[in-house]
Amino acid sequence: MTKFDAFPVLVNRLSRVAHAMQFSHGLNPAQWEALRYLEKANRYSSSPSAMADYLGATKGTVSQTLIALESKGLVKRDRCPNDRRAVVLALTDAGREILSQDPLCQIYAATEKVPEEERQQLVGVMKSILDDLCVRQNSSQFGVCGDCCHLGEGICAGEGTCGITGDPLGASDLHRICIDFSPCEGDERTSTSSLDSTGVW
Ligand code: SF4
Repeated sequence: MTKFDAFPVLVNRLSRVAHAMQFSHGLNPAQWEALRYLEKANRYSSSPSAMADYLGATKGTVSQTLIALESKGLVKRDRCPNDRRAVVLALTDAGREILSQDPLCQIYAATEKVPEEERQQLVGVMKSILDDLCVRQNSSQFGVCGDCCHLGEGICAGEGTCGITGDPLGASDLHRICIDFSPCEGDERTSTSSLDSTGVW
């Protein structure tokens, strides 16, 4: 143990506090996390298996979570137009509405006294730690197109092309998280600039 051990201990305590505050509005922490994920996931990542990957949960656990959210009218599932065997998940209007009351906003409120520059630095450090842990545990990193090595050349006016699928990417796609994301090694695009207003994706 070293003096730096305060960091993992604090992360663990914060995690427990965050977990406890998410038993609200008739939902549990896993259900809140699933709603947040669907709000940010891009078209290639709106599946139960991608969600399980992101949440670090089993497909069985995610299936139970989705059944509960569907029964509450917060999530809907459709067949993928390009592959009728695949399922595409989406928030309903009620799902988007309840997210406006996300209990994790209490954590954001608790950081309001911290100067914005320090807050962004903290976000960058925590994101870096998370990325490193994902690599060490061989789990998908997830990220947005603006930081992805597969983003095609010729990006213009906030649009681009996915180098994997060849699909055009509109401005709204570029800020959504993707399971096929791969970071740009040593590229200046790998920065916290693509983090959203809450500082996470
Ligand atoms: S460019 Fe990267 S992040 Fe964007 S859709 Fe393609 S693989 Fe996903």
